[in-house]
Amino acid sequence: MQKNILISGAAGFLGSHLCDHFIKEGFRVFGIDNFITGDKDNIQHLFNHPNFHFFDHDVTNHIDIKSPLDYILHFASPASPIDYLKIPIQTLKVGSLGTHNLLGLAKAKQARILIASTSEIYGDPVVHPQHEDYYGNVNSIGPRGVYDEAKRFQEAITMAYHRFHGVETRIARIFNTYGPRMRLNDGRVIPAFMGQALRGESLSVFGKGDQTRSFCYVDDLVNGIYKLLFSDYSLPVNLGNPDEITIIDFANEILKLTKSDQKISFKPLPEGDPLKRQPDISLAKKELNWIPKTSRSDGMKNTFDYFKSLPKEKWYKTDHKDFSKHIKN
Ligand code: NAD
Ligand code: UDP
Repeated sequence: MQKNILISGAAGFLGSHLCDHFIKEGFRVFGIDNFITGDKDNIQHLFNHPNFHFFDHDVTNHIDIKSPLDYILHFASPASPIDYLKIPIQTLKVGSLGTHNLLGLAKAKQARILIASTSEIYGDPVVHPQHEDYYGNVNSIGPRGVYDEAKRFQEAITMAYHRFHGVETRIARIFNTYGPRMRLNDGRVIPAFMGQALRGESLSVFGKGDQTRSFCYVDDLVNGIYKLLFSDYSLPVNLGNPDEITIIDFANEILKLTKSDQKISFKPLPEGDPLKRQPDISLAKKELNWIPKTSRSDGMKNTFDYFKSLPKEKWYKTDHKDFSKHIKN
């Protein structure tokens, strides 16, 4: 029998790829989004699909879905540091109130729920690489605190619904993921550098660029989420690509890939920017038989081809998204 899945954050980068994947697998998909950081273009191709139903709704308000649900994926949340600095209250609310609503819905529908947690749980880590047993090093009142603490609360309430109400829960700790459908100007490093290369601007490296990240291609992440949802494992699982690189080396890779003769300009390192990040994925290997397969060179090429194919007004839209219509309280 056809299964029903609700995906919050459906119009976002990851949510839209998840919608495509579950449609392809034969599910009936209920997408929900309020477009605060998402883009209708990411799901435009699904609006006429018989198995796709969309709700324009803020998940921090009560969610009313009439149909039975088998699964829920909670991916609604700003995810770029620039976004969550601009909309800190919405970020805290979607991680806390939004997660509470979706857990309540999962309980009422007896659905299994997977929540999108993050490597930011580990903050600026003093343990390297980061294993799930590490409790992290988070500054609750720093600029990133609104995101990090919302996500830590999200994990805590998810485990409470699991332990107290017996809801079937899954927690994915997602490390930096990239690919087509990121917002070109969302400020995250890959769209930032690629947008700059397209516009003929110098690449803005923060600090000396000796901080590291480990980038996972979206198709690998989607595959990991799918495996985690259908696994029996209810504690958090890291999903990411351990291939670690410094930001300065990464900027040089992008200059080479984009055949750009631009320079690098150094800007101040934002407060609270983690100095190192690399997932230990031994648990995902063991429990899910999952490893990422896409090389950074292939993934980056696909992503750059996508950005290049966008209409030029998207390349030049240097203002960040207008959040004002969402800010009521
Ligand atoms: P994104 O900003 O592209 O997508 C988030 C989507 O959620 C947007 O479409 C936005 O409009 C929607 N949304 C936000 N608040 C909402 C609300 N109150 N009600 C309804 N919809 C709302 O970001 P993304 O990169 O796709 O991230 C998706 C999820 O994955 C987030 O929860 C994020 O924390 C998590 N995550 C992403 C990464 C990554 O590298 N992309 C890493 C770790 C965790
Ligand atoms: N970064 C940078 N220049 C930019 C944007 C980001 O040097 O224009 C750096 C940032 O300081 C961080 C890394 O790239 O160390 C990844 O940043 P991103 O915003 O993508 O995600 P984060 O992992 O910090 O959440």
